[in-house]
Amino acid sequence: MARYTGPVCRLCRREGMKLFLKGDRCYTGKCAIDRRSYAPGQHGQSRGKKPTEYGIQLREKQKARRIYGVMEGQFRRYFAEANREKGMTGENLLRLLERRLDNVAYRLGFASSRPEARQLVRHGHFTVNGKRVDIPSYLVRVGETIAVKEDSKNSPRMKEILQSLGTKGVSSWLSLDANAAAGTVTALPTREDIQLPIQEHLIVEKYSR
Ligand code: SF4
Repeated sequence: MARYTGPVCRLCRREGMKLFLKGDRCYTGKCAIDRRSYAPGQHGQSRGKKPTEYGIQLREKQKARRIYGVMEGQFRRYFAEANREKGMTGENLLRLLERRLDNVAYRLGFASSRPEARQLVRHGHFTVNGKRVDIPSYLVRVGETIAVKEDSKNSPRMKEILQSLGTKGVSSWLSLDANAAAGTVTALPTREDIQLPIQEHLIVEKYSR
């Protein structure tokens, strides 16, 4: 499964906003966006040309892709699936992305960022309805319970995570049992639940060209 392995702060600087890819560091003065709030590269500080309509749509798509850590091909497949479903394609797309196991683990507070959640899933630290699942792109369904595996609870990083579990609150479509280190999907997320600065209609326009 391919994933981006380059410098992640660069992605935030390219999108001109915090994408929160580095966990706790994103909330400190070490955040690259706070220190260098211009685009990366040789021409990052030049004023550049006014972006075209296509450029704006492209940036929106890249932003969504980078927030969820999805490569181009897979993002395209999510879009195709969203387009097949009933309802608003843009909203369907975000809902599919939200249902990824790594995202749900992050939303429940089992990781400090989506990239960390992805790694923990890959390393087999979670179960879905009692069965080990190590596929970050696994799409959770309503009623499924995501839990930290019993023997994973003793790993140093997981101990640290579990100590502060439940202190930040979880999305309204999820319910968390912090004592059991488990969370359940109680409903599919609505657009209001997905509080991300993504203008999904621009992504739909890009793929509809
Ligand atoms: Fe983005 Fe976090 Fe890096 Fe800041 S510290 S630039 S929010 S990944």
